Amino acid sequence: MAKPEKAIVIGSGIAGIAASIRLAVMGLNVTVYEANDYPGGKLTSFSENGFRFDAGPSLFTMPLLVDQLFEVSELNPRNFFRYKEVDTICHYFYNDGTVIKAYSDKEKLRDEVNQQIGGYGEEVINYLSDCAKTYNLTSGIFLEKSLHRLGSYLSKDTLKALVRLNTLNLRSTMNEVNEKKIGHEKLVQLFNRYATYNGSSPYLAPGVLTLIPHLEFNLGTFFPDDGMHSITTSLVNLAESRGVDFVYNSKVEKINVIGRKVKGVQVKGEQVEADIVVSNMDIVPTYRHLLPELKQPRQVLEQERSSSAIIFYWGVDRQFPELDLHNIFFSQDYKQEFNFIFREHDLFEDPTIYVHISSKYCEGDAPPGKENWFVMINAPGNVGQDWDKLIDLSRERIIQKLSKILDIDLQSHIESESVLDPRTIEANTSSFRGSLYGASSNHWLSAFVRHPNFHRKIKGLYFCGGSVHPGGGIPLSILSGKIVSELVQNDFRI
Ligand SMILES: Cc1cc2nc3c(=O)[nH]c(=O)nc-3n(C[C@H](O)[C@H](O)[C@H](O)COP(=O)(O)OP(=O)(O)OC[C@H]3O[C@@H](n4cnc5c(N)ncnc54)[C@H](O)[C@@H]3O)c2cc1C
Repeated sequence: MAKPEKAIVIGSGIAGIAASIRLAVMGLNVTVYEANDYPGGKLTSFSENGFRFDAGPSLFTMPLLVDQLFEVSELNPRNFFRYKEVDTICHYFYNDGTVIKAYSDKEKLRDEVNQQIGGYGEEVINYLSDCAKTYNLTSGIFLEKSLHRLGSYLSKDTLKALVRLNTLNLRSTMNEVNEKKIGHEKLVQLFNRYATYNGSSPYLAPGVLTLIPHLEFNLGTFFPDDGMHSITTSLVNLAESRGVDFVYNSKVEKINVIGRKVKGVQVKGEQVEADIVVSNMDIVPTYRHLLPELKQPRQVLEQERSSSAIIFYWGVDRQFPELDLHNIFFSQDYKQEFNFIFREHDLFEDPTIYVHISSKYCEGDAPPGKENWFVMINAPGNVGQDWDKLIDLSRERIIQKLSKILDIDLQSHIESESVLDPRTIEANTSSFRGSLYGASSNHWLSAFVRHPNFHRKIKGLYFCGGSVHPGGGIPLSILSGKIVSELVQNDFRI
């Protein structure tokens, strides 16, 4: 079999960058075509009136996956990308005035829960140990390999996981598992929130997703010294140092296929040949726009999308010592909030608000004495709602709720504002409906319906990113790039 020489990656999202590094390390000549004039897709940043904002992700788990990209390139990651573990995972605020500080230290966490809730500290510790078991049992099969190749099922670990599938709470919802294991309403809400880490509803998503708190509480939450965007910039530098060519302002228009083989792409009207094409574009527009002549995988394309979001980037003219790097202000009725998002495609009147303040950690992100607030509420995907109206309504509701809980007139402290919404997320990254995480996990079979990282019939055609296996979020997107490189290695016997 002829060794492939040239690979094209469509899109420089985090998964596309990760795939490009691994393919370059394997000796391929790699070009990344990016529609925007900047890399990173959702993982990007901007500055305004002296404030710097990470535009998308703010929670950083499993940094080792970033480190591995330096290590496979035979470089010490610490010379290029630095981060620290965060002591307090999140400050949780409830409408009745309760505040829980979720410490990463287990003893402190147990004491805090006992103090704020009047017990249940031990239940939380036991619950987190169950989350670890679920993660350890499933990560090998659901996250780290192609779920769609027979070879993935033949390892000892995978067979062990398959035998114990019945213990994974696939048929119970996350909320049911949390109610059973923790009991206290406020703590159930706290741990239900982890369904939103892949844009799903805890009242629909399977209990196996209780593996997610394990990432934060047991493996740790981290923050890059130079902000989230430095994940993108350091990896693009790494890719370029390995010879990857990034071509910006270059939207790929078509993936060329002849017979059962990929032949390259059409970009700006020109045909560019390649032995391997990896699409990091959302799987829905990839099929609809780049592969319109191929049979469309109906089930994948119709899979329910994850939630989207409305984000206000506020420059705030004072500091708030009661707030931390990550803060959540919960809705009084969480179930209704998710009903509104996934069933009504609308916003609930009392939203859960996430406030991320990177200047708590990176001082230069805001002028002295001020803070950069990333204020996000979960929102339905874009199906043509009147977003201008919903943004105005959300701003009003958020300001009212935060002003009440923090006992201030928040509006008078906002000195600059930018907004991101499902329409602009879709326009900036091609994510279908502006979903943050590709397909939702609102069904116990969702993981199996997600598109594989390869095309079953077209040799040389691969897929990575949040909309395909193993799913959305930075860690899984990076893993998808790794799976693609392993598939290429296997398929072409490199
Ligand atoms: C507001 C927000 C908050 C989030 N919070 C978190 C968080 O805290 N933690 C976390 O882990 N994850 C978070 N996520 C999710 C995370 O950002 C994504 O899952 C991840 O970044 C997806 O990466 P990706 O590789 O799929 O590519 P994307 O970021 O979707 O980028 C795709 C790239 O492909 C390019 N492209 C598309 N079509 C073409 C084409 N035809 N030709 C050329 N280029 C093309 C796009 O321009 C884009 O640059 C958040 C996302 C958002 C939007």
